[in-house]
Amino acid sequence: MPAHVLILGGTTEARRLATALAARPGLRVTTSLAGRVSRPGAVDGEVRVGGFGGAAGLADWLRAHRVTALVDATHPFADRITANAAEAARTTGVPHAVLRRPGWDLDADWHPVTSLEEAARLVPRLGRRVFLSTGRLGLAAFADLTDTQFVVRSVEPPEPPLPPHCELALARGPFTLADELDLFRAYRVDVLVTKDSGGAATAPKLAAARSLSLPVIVVRRPELPSGVRALPDVDGVLDWLAGVIPPADAGAADTCP
Ligand code: NAP
Repeated sequence: MPAHVLILGGTTEARRLATALAARPGLRVTTSLAGRVSRPGAVDGEVRVGGFGGAAGLADWLRAHRVTALVDATHPFADRITANAAEAARTTGVPHAVLRRPGWDLDADWHPVTSLEEAARLVPRLGRRVFLSTGRLGLAAFADLTDTQFVVRSVEPPEPPLPPHCELALARGPFTLADELDLFRAYRVDVLVTKDSGGAATAPKLAAARSLSLPVIVVRRPELPSGVRALPDVDGVLDWLAGVIPPADAGAADTCP
């Protein structure tokens, strides 16, 4: 029975981890996607799609599929699946780690907030034309801002309710600093609202805002469940897995003359 790693995915790091592990002989790798995006990028190894049915459903899945190690490589703001994974790992005893990229370093004059609702309350005090880079789910928090023009960029059209004055820029990253400066100037953006997603892929928008001296509202990420093992990158997870999963030829040395 090969060792089996379940990766809770939906991020670039999850895809990289799957690629690194799928190349290993004698190891089964499954990436789980929530199914929010209709055309997800290619992922190496096996892929399953859709919710598990809460922590209990995930625990059942871990047992039924004989999972050896669980890696939660979901987005830093996907806090429900992260809580479920911690609980399922606790109840099943399956070794578990969270791959959590570090947050960004915030400039001293930026505006950290703890929720999208708090960001929405702050927006009217800072500007009139907002680049809203908080993901396509959660725009409802801004739906009451009738005097603000929003630009929303996402891979697929966002779910209503949307703010009344909203322009959509449908695009898939990564974006360069030049891309971001062009977008900010084209839409005459005067405020950036973003989540503290961290990572290099979406950081150029911060550099663009900095270079144009725009106010930036940053939604802080939720706390991890207490006691979970957090690792900052794919290499850290690979090191941890090396201690959790026996090598494919473990035991063979004992039988050699
Ligand atoms: P969430 O609020 O934490 O999760 C809601 C429910 O969706 C979970 O309870 C679970 O359903 C299901 N789910 C979430 N991730 C799953 C996964 N990888 N595999 C199977 N089921 C999953 O999550 P979210 O914020 O909606 O994000 C959904 C997915 O999009 C995540 O996988 C995340 O990595 C990715 N993503 C999120 C963001 C963001 O800003 N939140 C940004 C980029 C990508 P059950 O309880 O039924 O198991």
